[in-house]
Amino acid sequence: MRYYFERPIYQCALLMLIVFIIDLIIPLGVAVGVLYVCCIALLIREKVKVTLMFSIVATLLTVAIPVITFDENTTWMAFVNRGISVLAVWMIYFIVVKHRILDHKMRVYTTKLEIKNKELEQFNYVASHDLQEPLNTIRSFSMLLNQQYGGVIDKKADKYLLFINRASVRMSELVKALLDYGRIGHNMNLEKVDCNVLVNEVKTDIDSLISKSNAQLYVNKLPKVKGYETELRLLFQNLISNAIKFQNKDTTPIIKIGASLETDQWIFFVKDNGIGIDQVHRERIFAIFQRLHSTCEYEGTGIGLAHCRKIVDLHGGRIWLDSQVDKGSTFYFNIPA
Ligand code: ADP
Repeated sequence: MRYYFERPIYQCALLMLIVFIIDLIIPLGVAVGVLYVCCIALLIREKVKVTLMFSIVATLLTVAIPVITFDENTTWMAFVNRGISVLAVWMIYFIVVKHRILDHKMRVYTTKLEIKNKELEQFNYVASHDLQEPLNTIRSFSMLLNQQYGGVIDKKADKYLLFINRASVRMSELVKALLDYGRIGHNMNLEKVDCNVLVNEVKTDIDSLISKSNAQLYVNKLPKVKGYETELRLLFQNLISNAIKFQNKDTTPIIKIGASLETDQWIFFVKDNGIGIDQVHRERIFAIFQRLHSTCEYEGTGIGLAHCRKIVDLHGGRIWLDSQVDKGSTFYFNIPA
């Protein structure tokens, strides 16, 4: 019995019956239309055929009352009221049908998108995972060659072996970065994250980089946000490491980190006094494997900021920067408060 009353079709049928009985005892006039509209609105998730059937029944019930109760006291106004009620019923019918069509289209798009996304993730995983295997073979054999024949053939051969080794190490790093990129967004738990604790942990993790560069970090009081802890830690780590890394040789990195509340968003910033970024590259640097310098100048794979953008996207935010060449950069990102 409970099952029936939980279903919108039965709820709608029962309510319509009640409205009809009340209307029969005390003619409700134009109000009857409003009540039938409320009943039909319950069917928003049902099939179009069901909504159509109930709209026809509502129309018949609305029109039936003045016909059944017709006498010399019935005025033409009663029929006008019924006409308005019928109009209201059919208006809600078309609204419900339109909603159903849009809802259906959205479901189809979402399913297609989910399938494509899964395919892409799988492709990324298979490509990067399977590439590791032949790469490891190249690396280990070039190392073996180096150990056993280093200095035996000639200097040129040694140089070529070194190039092979370096290239395979680099490719291995790129493939690993690609795998990590694909993993972002898996097995995540949304939780309250204290960004002060997070940044302190990052400082500990990159302690050797900080002391090697004599970097000075000034961290304002940061908020607690609802987010994905591991991903947020990676976000801060990438931005802080970049701020330390992309510096002229003779400057001491000075990094400022803070956040401000603007309406319903926390806007975080990571500011440095580094080499800066030209205006033309401001979008490009967030794409995967895009770098503005060679690995000889500054080490890296070019995936850090792509990670950052993916993480901020996952939190429903945006990442952007403000920068001037040789004057430093400020990276901003927002997270809903
Ligand atoms: P990676 O650090 O591995 O090179 P990223 O994706 O983190 O890759 O950064 C992409 C590029 O953006 C970098 O190669 C660098 O040219 C530029 N960049 C990133 N952060 C900074 C920064 N704080 N100052 C100047 N340039 C930066």
